[in-house]
Amino acid sequence: MRKLEEVYEGKAKKVFKTDDPQLFIVSYKDDATALDGLKKGTILGKGVINNQMTNRLMAKMEKAGIPTHFVRELSERETLVKKVSIVPLEVIVRNISAGHFASRYGVEEGIVFDQPTIEFSYKNDALHDPLLNEYHALALKLATREEIDLIKKYAFAVNDVLKAFWAECGVTLVDFKLEFGKLSDGTIVLADEISPDTCRLWDSVTHEKLDKDRFRRDMGGVEDAYTEIMKRLVEHDQ
Ligand code: ADP
Ligand code: UDP
Repeated sequence: MRKLEEVYEGKAKKVFKTDDPQLFIVSYKDDATALDGLKKGTILGKGVINNQMTNRLMAKMEKAGIPTHFVRELSERETLVKKVSIVPLEVIVRNISAGHFASRYGVEEGIVFDQPTIEFSYKNDALHDPLLNEYHALALKLATREEIDLIKKYAFAVNDVLKAFWAECGVTLVDFKLEFGKLSDGTIVLADEISPDTCRLWDSVTHEKLDKDRFRRDMGGVEDAYTEIMKRLVEHDQ
């Protein structure tokens, strides 16, 4: 597989063409951003951890019957994925109140919901990823009714698998963001990443944060948290 020109450089990853028009290479960086891009920094070793964690978790999703873009890991930071056209929706599933849910609705963090919630935001940096509902997504033709229904089904299935696995690692899955994409034949697959950048993960006993909130909130111990969460995954992912 030959790596060809870069097609996109995002905040956390670069995407490259390959000599197969259906495949891309994703390369994970140590760059971190938060607060709508206002806060910038580096989390040493993050790219390696996010690449390897995403791939192991994507493999679990495939095993559970959720189709993904994952093809194979190429190196510490690089992975071969199926090229998709990204559905411009950030799909957020929450089990416990935190982050914007807590601030938007004026509640404390840590309220355990009776059932998970799902919400969408319009993946559009210029508009600051505004929250939208399914009717808005349909009106804007971001996805069809069938695609939205399938995305919701997959997102809740991802939550079931992830929540159960992290529980085995002594970690509580608070919330996370997913992105889905369409293959050239229109098939919807899970794309992008599943990592401490995109999930809130708390130690089940101490509730210590083991995710990007340590960076967002200047809590210190950012690299240690990423290392610890990866160690727990590797120990339990046999
Ligand atoms: P951002 O665009 O938010 O800065 P990243 O730095 O993570 O995010 O960049 C990676 C980009 O690649 C994202 O825009 C993501 O939607 C996109 N992407 C992820 N998986 C695929 C894929 N399989 N095919 C095409 N694009 C993808
Ligand atoms: N999230 C993400 N990318 C975004 C926004 C949110 O990966 O652009 C993740 C975030 O890490 C958290 C979940 O989605 O796990 C819910 O985030 P929230 O809406 O509370 O916003 P945040 O406080 O993270 O900005």
